[in-house]
Amino acid sequence: MSIDASIPTWLHDLPKLELHVHLEGSMSVATVRELAARHDVDTTAIWPDGLPLAFSFDGFPSFARQFFFGLSLLRSGADLATITDDLAATLASQNVRYAEITTTAYTHFLDRGGRSGISWGEYREGLNEGRRRAAERGVEIGWVIDIPRDLEMPDQTVTIEYLESGQTPDGLVAIGLGGYEVGFPAAPYAEHFARARAIGLPAVPHAGETEGADSVRQAVEVLGAVRIGHGVRCLEDPSLVDLLIDRGIMLEVCPTSNDLLQVVERIEDHPLPELLAAGLRVCLNTDDPGWFATDLVTELAIASELLGVDRAQHLAMQLDAVDASFIAPEIALALKTEIVDYPIDA
Ligand SMILES: [Zn+2]
Repeated sequence: MSIDASIPTWLHDLPKLELHVHLEGSMSVATVRELAARHDVDTTAIWPDGLPLAFSFDGFPSFARQFFFGLSLLRSGADLATITDDLAATLASQNVRYAEITTTAYTHFLDRGGRSGISWGEYREGLNEGRRRAAERGVEIGWVIDIPRDLEMPDQTVTIEYLESGQTPDGLVAIGLGGYEVGFPAAPYAEHFARARAIGLPAVPHAGETEGADSVRQAVEVLGAVRIGHGVRCLEDPSLVDLLIDRGIMLEVCPTSNDLLQVVERIEDHPLPELLAAGLRVCLNTDDPGWFATDLVTELAIASELLGVDRAQHLAMQLDAVDASFIAPEIALALKTEIVDYPIDA
């Protein structure tokens, strides 16, 4: 494969959108340091030698331990506004114009360590403030609120009741299903997702990341998924691939995440080329950019330099991601025009 030396600059300048990025996963080391200082929290229980330059993991459990520590630092609406604005600054610096950002309301509402959780109203106001600041940076945000499948059991209804309450943030576009798939199947959440659809929220669950094709099929057939977070293991079942193509369901693919959480053995072995060759709709994303020390330009560059994606495919994926998003029509039109006008040989 020949290396295109100008590709990082071209990818940076390309007007972009991102559809799979977690607000609580966007915290950088700098943000963790800032919030720990704000709340006078000692970080040595997790990082005995001090905060690292970049976070590192050896699988999902080790990732989760650090992730939940970061989560414990989010204690107010102001903290949520801070991390939204930090994420928006990173997105703006990469020419990302629109992002659908997943946030896990449930984890903020819980009482933690003797502290009461954030109230529904404060959660909404914090996200609204962060979204307002993001717009000033030129980044439009659509929110996805997800059910954490390994924390909120199917007999709990915290998230769906919140979604139905009318106290949700401005720009809410969809419901997700996050958390660890192994041992936590999608099908028991059928009722939650039916209720979400009834109030106009489409389903964009995670599936086919740490579990196989069956998990993706449940997400589609039981939850009514219109996009799938990850879904890379759909290739294990050709009839499922046909189903995804027939229904035009886009996969939100996150190469670095799959590498660090050991969904793939080596990033060079990532199945992105096979997904594209199969005719599946695919967009590229960061998942948890702070924790994984990545950004969207890096993910697109990995696709170019290690996985053989060319410029025309990048342009097609960005345009297709606009169509698979829940972006307001006037912003969609402006963004598509910019992408179409972007010179392929700049
Ligand atoms: Zn995710």
